[in-house]
Amino acid sequence: MSNSNMEHIDVAVVGAGILGLAHAYAAVRRGLRVAVFERTSTPLGASIRNFGMGLVTGQPPGVMLGLAKQSREIWLHLAQRANFSAREAGTLLFARSAAEHAVLEEFMIVRARQHGYDASLLEGPQLEALYGGRFRHHRSALHGTQDLQLYSREAVPALVCYLQSQGVQFHFNSLVKEAADGRLSGTAGEFRAERVIVCSGHDYQTLFADKLAGMNLKVCRLQMLRAVPQEHFPLTHAVLTGLSCTHYGAFSDLSSAAGVHAEIEEKTPALNRHGIHLLVSPTPYQELIIGDSHYYGVDAPPFNNEEIDRLMIGLTEHTLGVRLNVLERWQGVYGSKGPGPFSATPVDARTTVVLMHTGIGMSVGLALGERVMGALLDGAALPDPAVDKN
Ligand SMILES: Cc1cc2nc3c(=O)[nH]c(=O)nc-3n(C[C@H](O)[C@H](O)[C@H](O)COP(=O)(O)OP(=O)(O)OC[C@H]3O[C@@H](n4cnc5c(N)ncnc54)[C@H](O)[C@@H]3O)c2cc1C
Repeated sequence: MSNSNMEHIDVAVVGAGILGLAHAYAAVRRGLRVAVFERTSTPLGASIRNFGMGLVTGQPPGVMLGLAKQSREIWLHLAQRANFSAREAGTLLFARSAAEHAVLEEFMIVRARQHGYDASLLEGPQLEALYGGRFRHHRSALHGTQDLQLYSREAVPALVCYLQSQGVQFHFNSLVKEAADGRLSGTAGEFRAERVIVCSGHDYQTLFADKLAGMNLKVCRLQMLRAVPQEHFPLTHAVLTGLSCTHYGAFSDLSSAAGVHAEIEEKTPALNRHGIHLLVSPTPYQELIIGDSHYYGVDAPPFNNEEIDRLMIGLTEHTLGVRLNVLERWQGVYGSKGPGPFSATPVDARTTVVLMHTGIGMSVGLALGERVMGALLDGAALPDPAVDKN
């Protein structure tokens, strides 16, 4: 190693995705000296390729719901200070059939009451009143009033600038090749830190490959689009459909959700085959981020499937009642299929690896960083997704 830098660092963070930034924020807020190491020149991982939905309503009761509510507060606090958009209009999840409506009803009657979800079910005149009746071809809509809409490709870089202004050192273009016992080495040289937090996303090979191999982790690869409506349509809510009832933990274990799965399998099996469930996020510029499909594997295949894009565009046009012009297409990849929705694994006395294993890091990541740093520095308990389920 040619370079050597032994200046004192309290907390070194590997990865400038949302998890890395969350830990950096939690540490610098406690007055600690923090350095973040990121191999790319700006964050380019899952944290900027996503929809930017801060979903509270979709989270299963227990730890995940708690993390999502706490993250919402942190996002709103940071949006003010770092000057990025965080819309509070919430989400509209449209039921397109009786089966989808049954899930929303069960959610409202059973789950929302028991676990304090802040949501309402819109039907009849309330549905008719939405956007001048544009959504009247649906059966009902669940309005998730606590859900946030961020524009990740702006919010994440703005967060980096804000953390820099608070004294966090960023080392971009810096691959960390080894981390052990408070020593870090890589392309930026050697560093020592009291604590090292590794938030390396879905890279399971560069650091701690042997340990991560035992966890049998996978990646999930998604096709995404950015489009503009062909007519003026200032959507302010994020939009989902009943297809998401089989995907998000707030709904997927309700008894009525099996009916939605069966209905999709019978009427539109291609959606199940590609793991498609429609999400539409409005950007601050009256454009729409549209997705997504889900492919799970050890690696992410590079080839986009045109059928998937066609299905997603068709679903969006039908749901919103508007024709679209596509502006951009990309792939996103996130870590998935771990021992739980996330893990915080101590690998030695000073080093902890914190990874998401499901696609909700924007919704829960900020609170997860706060809770992990609270556990390491203040002696609080590490959040454990296995406890406190229903
Ligand atoms: C298409 C898509 C849509 C999504 N939509 C949503 C959504 O709407 N709401 C939601 O809550 N979640 C969503 N998610 C999930 C969410 O984006 C992820 O859970 C979250 O971004 C994961 O954050 P991360 O910091 O762990 O990973 P990343 O953002 O991937 O960051 C990891 C970083 O670590 C760096 N790195 C890795 N190894 C090293 C090393 N050795 N040295 C230096 N740097 C290293 C990488 O370069 C990378 O920048 C979506 C994900 C995708 C892909």
